[in-house]
Amino acid sequence: MTQEKSLWTKSTCAYCGVGCGIEASIGAKGELSIRGDQSHPANYGNLCSKGLALGETVSQEGRLLHPSIDGIETDWPNALQHVASKFSQAIEEYGPDSVAFYVSGQLLTEDYYVANKLMKGFIGSGNIDTNSRLCMSSSVVGHKRAFGSDTVPGCYEDLDTAELVVITGSNLAWCHPVLFQRLKAEKAKRDNLFIVVIDPRETDTCSIADLHLAIQPETDVALFNGLLAYLVEHKKIDNDYIEQHSEGFEAALKSAQEDMPSTAQLAANLALNEQDLISFFAHFASTEKTLTIYSQGVNQSTQGSNKVNSIINCHIATGRIGKSGMGPFSITGQPNAMGGREVGGLANTLAAHMEFGDQKANKLISDFWETEQLATRPGLKAVDLFEAMNEGKIKAVWIMATNPVVSLPNSNKIIEALKKCPTVVVSDCMAETATTQFADVLLPAQGWSEKSGTVTNSERRISRQRRLLPSPGVAKPDWWIISEVAKCMGFAKAFNFLHEGEVFSEFTKMTTLDNEDGLSRDLNLIGLTTLDAKGYSQLTPQQWPVTELQTQNVHQRLFADKQFFTPSKKVQFIAVSQLATSINVTSQQPKQSQYPLILNSGRIRDHWHTMTRTGLSSRLGAHITEPFVAIHPNDAEKLQITDNNLVAINSPQGAMLVRALLTNQQNKGQIFTPIHWNSQTAKSANICNLVSDDNDPISGQPGFKSTQVNVKKW
Ligand code: SF4
Repeated sequence: MTQEKSLWTKSTCAYCGVGCGIEASIGAKGELSIRGDQSHPANYGNLCSKGLALGETVSQEGRLLHPSIDGIETDWPNALQHVASKFSQAIEEYGPDSVAFYVSGQLLTEDYYVANKLMKGFIGSGNIDTNSRLCMSSSVVGHKRAFGSDTVPGCYEDLDTAELVVITGSNLAWCHPVLFQRLKAEKAKRDNLFIVVIDPRETDTCSIADLHLAIQPETDVALFNGLLAYLVEHKKIDNDYIEQHSEGFEAALKSAQEDMPSTAQLAANLALNEQDLISFFAHFASTEKTLTIYSQGVNQSTQGSNKVNSIINCHIATGRIGKSGMGPFSITGQPNAMGGREVGGLANTLAAHMEFGDQKANKLISDFWETEQLATRPGLKAVDLFEAMNEGKIKAVWIMATNPVVSLPNSNKIIEALKKCPTVVVSDCMAETATTQFADVLLPAQGWSEKSGTVTNSERRISRQRRLLPSPGVAKPDWWIISEVAKCMGFAKAFNFLHEGEVFSEFTKMTTLDNEDGLSRDLNLIGLTTLDAKGYSQLTPQQWPVTELQTQNVHQRLFADKQFFTPSKKVQFIAVSQLATSINVTSQQPKQSQYPLILNSGRIRDHWHTMTRTGLSSRLGAHITEPFVAIHPNDAEKLQITDNNLVAINSPQGAMLVRALLTNQQNKGQIFTPIHWNSQTAKSANICNLVSDDNDPISGQPGFKSTQVNVKKW
């Protein structure tokens, strides 16, 4: 038994925001075997197809092995000095806002922390943003507006006790499979669990639904506003909770009522059967233990922030936050989107959940980092950052662990922006991506299984990722690369980290800075500040807030005490309106337009992002072998398209070619295509060519879920 134990190393899955614990062992030929970690509270030993295949996706094929400058291989000292010189020159000539970092939810918290510290703390610009902007920034806005902090209130255990689970804008079955399996098992066990799926498509998640509401795209605010109005009309609100612990109810209700003239009219606007709509409202009204799970279908929208607050409003009105089995629950897409948020990876936040504009917080950070250069205003969000690059305002950009050419909207514009930027540095594991071809400097970074640090999952649980294998070539951890560049720029004292554990230790201390005004109280890691190297090495999963080291798995909820992080300590209703948004319910009938169909996009079960890793597993590739566009048979018939025909999808931004898949699971007037294939993996199948860079005016999150297009047989 002891022998068996020593052969398996605990780590965390590389993929989604569920953050499953894994155990890995290395075979005689260096092959990696993977199994679920039964002690990890995110998954209790379960893994999905992607997690189980992790061992098959570890390869040296295509890896970036050495630094290079202008295509010529060089060594680390030369490359680091070159990057530092280019950034320093740009800053000297054009000021700190002329440089930028574009980072990733694939980075570990330690990497993120160091990148943020360099850009905001020592370069003195807010220009560090992350691909997590594309994933959950609307939820961040929703949380901050309602709770006064970017706090996910609940935990996965709520799935086991909820009696109504509303899954909206999420294909949980394919995108967060282990949580879906957990819910499915509950459904099989309990008669008192009712599940509602809200999604324009009939996805695999609907297989456990008692009710599926296939709403018109982008009508979520109207739906949840209708629900709020219904709850009030039927006296199903918690008046004491509203009166004593909230603010803004009257204004939010007024907006909600304007969006719902009647259930019949609302149902017509949402393209729903009225009885189904009323059934949803009635179940929500009568079920105390209600959990609302949401993901990219809510977030990736030009009105994502308002969608999030329309959901949270209904939970505030019923007092259903911070209690077992209830609450709004944002499930994040990436493995460390949460960790990045915690250390200031978004351009508009500072580290440890502190904010720009708060003089006291700014002083605390400046003193803690011993810097006089702390950025004083937010930087450019992802889309705006590349827009500024396109306008020639960004003179040096460093892209870390992400592939914006095939993941940001309007790919052609991103390519133009990168061509115009005088210095493009890319650190990545892979030698050839759609983005590396535009790099002046390439820096080889360690990948999953080679690097070591921490990630935070959707229920605020910090877990260790551990080094399992040696890295190829001279690849280095991102935190090391950034620190070395910082030293070359003259900031040696502040970046003298010898080990990732030292970075983590500094971050934990930052969460404990004087917070008598509630500056960072939700994100409190005081219980981890005394960890030594051995403690960090052996760290078991910890769910924040961590007031003392958790030696057993805990399942905490925030706001049970009804104290929020707003100035008044009360939770805030936010008045949101479907009618006031640019995309309103009536404009969802673009039948006369040149682009009469609405294109939705998303993940498939067995692939991840741009497939640099999952594409290496033939087992994963066998699930769906090539890109497709799902079309309703009636739409296909009108377009004289049959199954497997090659079709062109056109939008005002660009075009892509894919095969047609005719299915009744797709609503008429709407089509769907996966995000994974791109110009590298399937020529002409890059969905980002089609999507416009219109984004939520508050969160900056682009609307990947509803692009107006036409389809033509090729
Ligand atoms: Fe990995 Fe997500 Fe699957 Fe868990 S559910 S094994 S974290 S991909």
